[in-house]
Amino acid sequence: MTGLDFHRHLNLQAKSPSERDAILANPGFVDHFTDHMVDICWSETGGWHRPRIQAYGPIELDPAAAVLHYGQEIFEGMKAFRHADGSIWTFRPDANARRLNASAVRMALPELPVEYFLDSLKALISVDAEWVPSSPDMSLYIRPFMFAKEAFLGVRPAKKVAYYVIAGPAGSYFKGGVAPVSIWLSEHYSRAGKGGTGAAKTGGNYAASLVAQNEAYANGCQQVLFLDSVEGKYLEELGGMNVVLVYKDGSIVTPLSDSILPGITRDSILQLAEERGHTVTRRPVSIDEWREGAANGDIVEAFACGTAAVVTPIGQVKAKDFTIGSADAEPGELTMSLRQELTDIQYGRREDTHGWMYRLDA
Ligand SMILES: *Cc1c(COP(=O)(O)O)cnc(C)c1O
Repeated sequence: MTGLDFHRHLNLQAKSPSERDAILANPGFVDHFTDHMVDICWSETGGWHRPRIQAYGPIELDPAAAVLHYGQEIFEGMKAFRHADGSIWTFRPDANARRLNASAVRMALPELPVEYFLDSLKALISVDAEWVPSSPDMSLYIRPFMFAKEAFLGVRPAKKVAYYVIAGPAGSYFKGGVAPVSIWLSEHYSRAGKGGTGAAKTGGNYAASLVAQNEAYANGCQQVLFLDSVEGKYLEELGGMNVVLVYKDGSIVTPLSDSILPGITRDSILQLAEERGHTVTRRPVSIDEWREGAANGDIVEAFACGTAAVVTPIGQVKAKDFTIGSADAEPGELTMSLRQELTDIQYGRREDTHGWMYRLDA
C-alpha cells in the first residue's frame, strides 16, 4: 500500500438500501451517481495532498478557476464488475493510470502516481461497494478526472489542481441486444489536428465533436466518424470510440494516427484477436479503402470499441454523397465473438490469462 491515507467524511444522506435497489433495478446508463466521491488536491508547492472520501455533491469553484476558461482538464473512463462470488474487479486500471498521465503531460497538468490512482478507485469502492450491480451486463461506471482549479485568468498551467473520482451504475448500453449502428462521416469538421490534443483524453476533444455529432443525429445516425484533419482522407475514430475493420481473409486493420485516443478496449480486443491467429495491422486506412473494400466484399465487418459500449457493430457509414454497408446489416460474427470473449473475462466467466483484472474490494 502507499502513504495515501484518505480522510473519510461519510455521506449522512446516503441512499437507503431500498432506494439504491430501486436505482440498481433500472439504472439507465449512469443516470445516477453513488453516495460518495474521492478527491485529492495538488499544488505546485505541496504536490498531491489531502486525499478525501466525501459525500457526492457539488464542487465549489472560484468563478475564475482556470478550467472554466481555458479547459485544462482530463479524464478517464472505466468500469467495476461484480463477479459471481460477489468480489469486485476492474479492467487494466494500470493502463488507465498511464493514459491519465500521458493526457496530463499533454495538457500541462501534474502526473498522478499510479498507486494513488489505484488507491483512489479502491477508496471509492470501500464506501460504495453496494452500488456495484450484480446483474450480468451491468457494471459501475467509474469516472476519474483532473482539472485546473486555480483562480487565475492569466494564461499558463494552473498551480492548483483537483483530482476526483465519481461513479454511477450502468445498465446494458444496448437495451434489447447489441444492434449495429449507423455512423455519419464528418467531412466538414475535424475532431483533432496534427500536433493537437487528439491523443489526450480531454474534454475539449469532446466539445469539438459535438457539432458534428448533431449533424449525425440530423442525418439519422447515432455516431460520427472523423477523418484526419490534414488530407480529410484517413479514418481517425468516432467521437469517443475507436474503429476496427475486418477483412474477408480474417485480417484486422485499425487506423494508425497520432491524433487518435489510444483505447484500452481496442488494444485488448486486438490482442485477443492476435492470440486467435488473426493478423492485426495498425496503419493509415482511407475512407476510399473502406468504401471499395465493403463494395467488393474484401471488408466484411466493422466495429467501434470503447469502455462504455465495449464493442459496437457498425452497420453503415453515411456520407453526404455515398453510403457504405446497410443500416439493417447483422452484427459481424468475429465482432460478436471478440465482444463475448472480452466481457467474459471482465465478468469473471472466463479465466483471466493476461492478468488484466484488478480486485477493488480487497
Ligand atoms: C475513451 C475514448 C476511447 C475509448 O477508450 P477505452 O480505453 O477503450 O475506453 C476512444 N476514443 C476517445 C476519443 C475516447 O475518449
